[in-house]
Amino acid sequence: MNPLMETAYRAALKQAIEAGAQVLDHGGSSMDAVETSIRSMEDDPLFNAGRGAVFTADGKNELDAAIMDGATLKAGAAADVTRARHPISLARAVMERSPHVFLAGPGADAFSVYAGLEQVDPSYFFTERRWQSLIQRLKKEGLPIPPRPAGAPPAPAAPVAEIEASAAHEYGTVGAVALDRRGDIAAGTSTGGTEAKRWGRVGDSPLIGAGTYASNQSCAVSATGAGEYFIRLTVARTVCALVEYKGLGLQQAADEVIHKELAALHGDGGVIAIAPGGQMAWSFNTPGMFRARLAEGGKLEIGIYKSNSIAIIVKHMAGHMRSRWTDFLTTDGEKPSRDRDSEFIDPPATRKDLLAAWEDGWNRLFTAIEPLTDADLTRTVTIRGETHSVMQAINRQLAHYPHHVGQIVLLAKHFACDHWQSLTIPRNQSTQFNRKGAAGKASQR
Ligand code: ASP
Repeated sequence: MNPLMETAYRAALKQAIEAGAQVLDHGGSSMDAVETSIRSMEDDPLFNAGRGAVFTADGKNELDAAIMDGATLKAGAAADVTRARHPISLARAVMERSPHVFLAGPGADAFSVYAGLEQVDPSYFFTERRWQSLIQRLKKEGLPIPPRPAGAPPAPAAPVAEIEASAAHEYGTVGAVALDRRGDIAAGTSTGGTEAKRWGRVGDSPLIGAGTYASNQSCAVSATGAGEYFIRLTVARTVCALVEYKGLGLQQAADEVIHKELAALHGDGGVIAIAPGGQMAWSFNTPGMFRARLAEGGKLEIGIYKSNSIAIIVKHMAGHMRSRWTDFLTTDGEKPSRDRDSEFIDPPATRKDLLAAWEDGWNRLFTAIEPLTDADLTRTVTIRGETHSVMQAINRQLAHYPHHVGQIVLLAKHFACDHWQSLTIPRNQSTQFNRKGAAGKASQR
């Protein structure tokens, strides 16, 4: 994904989560917060929900959504709807204003009118990017290309700038989970489903228990991914059941379902989850998942890819160095005080604190290494109880740290874009550099 696109996604996530947070800050319910956040994303053509929904093989947009209230276990859902601007609000109307939980197809569209929800012409959901993506897919699958939908703007002369096809972002379903001041949790999910779906296919998103579930007894979960697997595993409800009946922590429960159960079926996707105690978790087995989280008074966290942020890598390296090089020759390299897993969450709040930990780690390394004598190199040390020669212990880190430093550089380069200053000989400037070297004006030492 190009940096402009990434910036746009980050801004959209920020807007959606802040809209929901504002509701909660004003004492609103978790149901209101979930609906507000999702409406924001349904209005944004970036996501596969509402405005930016993918097309069916027939060239239509058929939308699904569900919402569930953890306090009452009431739920509402709608599938294959074509005219509600905000399918999530339709799902909520089903819950609050009908005796039913799940409405589908023309009946759901009719209920949407009856409930007085905002209606749009189906062409409102047309986006060129999704249309081109559909055409590409249908061509690949050898399926007939439907006519350009009525009411769509004329086809552009040149191809659209970017069509997202990467597996990392194939699932653009939106979801939100929230906890309000009363201690109630809620979950909601909205989607256009899967691209080129046929025969009235409905995925997991509007199915209570599969793509969406909430109970104050356990947690609230919203899922995205290959719906067929999520339905078969009742993913959202299973995460909650593991918390409720097996006493698993929220993250552990989410990881269990995504990384074990889903992976075992070769399904892919992810979940976001929240518990009444305020714990939040996300878990996914795709290369990335657009996500954001925010706790009252906390820092907004937005993520796209699976890989760790620069701050997390720095925190991990600092924690590792602190453990390995403190009393290097006389104690085990994995100190009992080290909590490795915590190195991958919640980086220090300020750059100053992060750099202090980083400096401390490197100081411990140099303090341990500098006084070593030749004889010390053949001594042994233990790491997690296993014996290593001092030389082996050093060599391990000679491989480990550059790996992480490389990650940091790659991320920094990615973020800096055109502002990046090469750390080595810049591209296409080798001859120039060699000349400078020969003249003694440049050196790589
Ligand atoms: N889970 C959705 C579905 O199968 C797709 C998605 O998450 O994007 O309908």
